[in-house]
Amino acid sequence: MIRSLLRRVFSRGSTKPKVIAFASHGIAAASISQCARRVVEALQGHGFKAFVVGGAVRDLLLAKHPKDFDLATDAHPEQVKGVFRRSRIIGRRFRLVHCMCGNETVEVATFRRGHDQEEDAAGHTDEHGRLLRDNVYGSQPDDAARRDFTINALFYDPATQEIVDYHNGWADLKKKQLRMIGDPDIRYREDPVRMLRAVRFAAAYGLEIEKKTLAPIRPLAPLLQNVPPARLFDEMLKLLLSGHATQCVTRLRREGLHHGLLPLLDVILEQPLGERFVMLALNTTDVRILEGKPVSPGFLFAALLWHEVLATSKKIREGGMAPMPALFLAMDQVLDTQTAKLAIPRRYTTDMKDLWALQQRLENRTGRRPFRVLEHPRFRAAYDFLQLRCDCGELEAEVGDWWRRFQQASAHEREGMLLREGDAKRRRRRRRKPSTAQAQPDAPV
Ligand code: ATP
Ligand code: MG
Repeated sequence: MIRSLLRRVFSRGSTKPKVIAFASHGIAAASISQCARRVVEALQGHGFKAFVVGGAVRDLLLAKHPKDFDLATDAHPEQVKGVFRRSRIIGRRFRLVHCMCGNETVEVATFRRGHDQEEDAAGHTDEHGRLLRDNVYGSQPDDAARRDFTINALFYDPATQEIVDYHNGWADLKKKQLRMIGDPDIRYREDPVRMLRAVRFAAAYGLEIEKKTLAPIRPLAPLLQNVPPARLFDEMLKLLLSGHATQCVTRLRREGLHHGLLPLLDVILEQPLGERFVMLALNTTDVRILEGKPVSPGFLFAALLWHEVLATSKKIREGGMAPMPALFLAMDQVLDTQTAKLAIPRRYTTDMKDLWALQQRLENRTGRRPFRVLEHPRFRAAYDFLQLRCDCGELEAEVGDWWRRFQQASAHEREGMLLREGDAKRRRRRRRKPSTAQAQPDAPV
């Protein structure tokens, strides 16, 4: 017991932290949301410790706008609730408190500690070292040590405007270095998702992953298989919506992490057209996010998997099935392979299927069909998707151009734009000619 305590104390940094004054770091209490300040004040007023912790402190030091303000305290959940009335205890495995002021909610977590090897033997980890339970209260240094990277383990006290730093996170941040707390090999085994977080933070904040922190990632990448698919989806979404999806996906591939996430990505990126399409979709997403525009996860996943849907439906058609049923079968097959690894929630897969199915309908511009497609609730997204296909050279630019004009045209002009059956056939024949083969390896469904 004493041995394990000593190991805990000495293996993951010091219990005596550095205290960084406002004069050095320059983060004023006013940068913290009002609600977070109120909760901290209330807890400290009752004699408890309370700090802003984690991502918010890191983001402020990087001059980014924090998404939310999480607090850490030595008060237990019931005590937090006693101090701050407008709150509720959530979570079963590890209980947190949500404190509400107006429409802002601040999450308050009691200091807790990681685990040690004696606890491994007691069944707190699986056979690969994955942490199954981490719900033991601890001290402030314990709480710092159980966090993943040094830059995520900084405590900020709005009352004194000081940062409490147990693991040299501030120095790392200044050096633009991402460093794991403790032994990286053990920490990735405890929670393989930390490998994805490493890639995301490095790409999103332009950090260098420290050598020892980087080294185990490639060999341990297969451990992602043991992570529940729903948790992988959440992390993947964070990564894709980070505003740096292009770099994140490139880095995931470099580290061999994508096998466990997007098993089909290798096949898709092997074809120049597939690679162009995926990269263009990621880039468009990054630009939209940086401009503060909304991005739909369904659209993004539909884009990531589109070329596999195309290739699969082509194979099925070669077996003699008609185009539309072949497309639907391909969609299901691709989604089955994908969701075995990473569970895309049904609300998104429904969007994805709509988008994919509408592609075929958008290509068919004869008769009254374009009018019906125009009225479809997902038309706008499907048109954007079509435009991406044109931009990467999979589809003739003329198709996207036609739809742009069709949307802007008057009712009378629209009638004149409709293609006749014969036009459509001629167009299809022209597209099949070898001269336009560049756009044909996985021709439209
Ligand atoms: P972001 O919100 O941008 O994803 P974040 O660092 O705030 O970044 P959260 O998931 O909100 O990430 O977690 C809050 C804090 O909890 C982190 O800063 C880190 O200290 C700790 N943390 C989160 N995930 C892990 C993990 N898998 N292992 C150890 N500590 C973690
Ligand atoms: Mg956060």
